Amino acid sequence: MKNAYPDQILCSIAEECQEFEHIISAMGYGYSLLNVSPDNFTRKCSDCVNWLGSSCNIFQSEIGE
Ligand code: SF4
Repeated sequence: MKNAYPDQILCSIAEECQEFEHIISAMGYGYSLLNVSPDNFTRKCSDCVNWLGSSCNIFQSEIGE
């Protein structure tokens, strides 16, 4: 399924979002297993547990303005 939103939007909203949680982190493995730090992730909404196919309320209110 294609993303309906440009990466630039997904990244800029996630950067400022307090609720961001990466899907890999949320699976409970933590970051160390992958030998990467959270800083190395591209932080964007489509990698967030709250994304849910763009139905995240925070995301929707951010782009709805
Ligand atoms: S998907 Fe929602 S909760 Fe996750 S970073 Fe984007 S706006 Fe924040």
